[in-house]
Amino acid sequence: MAESSPVVGVENLEPGVYDTVFVSPHLDDVAFSCPGALHSLRKSGRKVLVIVVFSHAGDDAEAERIYEYRRAEECRAAMRGGYDLVWGHFVDAPFRPWPHRNFMEIIWGESPKDEEIVNTIKEWLRKVIGHIRPRQVVGPLGVGRHIDHRLSYRALRQISNGQGELDLWYYEERPYALIDGAVAMRLAEMGHKAEVRLEEFWRLYSKAAYVVNHLVSRQDRDRCRQNFAELHRKGQAARNDVTPGATARLIETEDCASIWKIVEAHRSQVEAFLGDMDRFRRECGDYTRCIKSDAKYAERQWRL
Ligand SMILES: [Zn+2]
Repeated sequence: MAESSPVVGVENLEPGVYDTVFVSPHLDDVAFSCPGALHSLRKSGRKVLVIVVFSHAGDDAEAERIYEYRRAEECRAAMRGGYDLVWGHFVDAPFRPWPHRNFMEIIWGESPKDEEIVNTIKEWLRKVIGHIRPRQVVGPLGVGRHIDHRLSYRALRQISNGQGELDLWYYEERPYALIDGAVAMRLAEMGHKAEVRLEEFWRLYSKAAYVVNHLVSRQDRDRCRQNFAELHRKGQAARNDVTPGATARLIETEDCASIWKIVEAHRSQVEAFLGDMDRFRRECGDYTRCIKSDAKYAERQWRL
């Protein structure tokens, strides 16, 4: 690896170097979801490490060639955002021996084997984070319900349960969180108090670029809609007065040019998941106005 590469081998990580560690289930999640936080931390002189958990495609040679290209895109994003990278080398959902192949399986599928993955990545993350000793850790909230996001969330949640001193925040995944009601849906599913207008959520959800591109059949759309209603009902039925409240913090920045550069580095994923950059910029603008009316650009992180 060239000297200028932002990729660090786990064996070369040193304690006390990194202020903040982000956990990115896939190669684009932190770059798409937290460019404002990455930029703000860099501006204040803090050193950041992004751990990409499911960074590889396993034995599928053709897919692995694509992932190599995507890892190069993530390296470009890291150089633009001034952060370092660690590859988890875990295999992305569609390429595991018990794959989640299509949209419905990825969003709604559960496999008994998934619990093994949670345990494996939990132990690995616990070791790496325990060694680095960062001031704070920021991981995925699981908005959008991608299986790898839910597994990463569960692993971090279990680590924090055993390590009270860990300052752990969860970021809202984009583009999923840009749908009005999607974050509330995730919080409600986890038993937090959150107001979800199901009809309105579904109307917006079914128009999102990644849903239009990946959820094609009428039958699947109906099932997906029913599943959300059921999830919401179950979460709220399970809610009780001892469920801790979720608190949010905002990350704001005025320097939009820098954050769009981080996002744009993932060129191959922009079209499939964001529609295009103009659309993403516009949707981020709309979202900012919802969470902080006078900000130029804002993101949100949660403590649960
Ligand atoms: Zn992802």
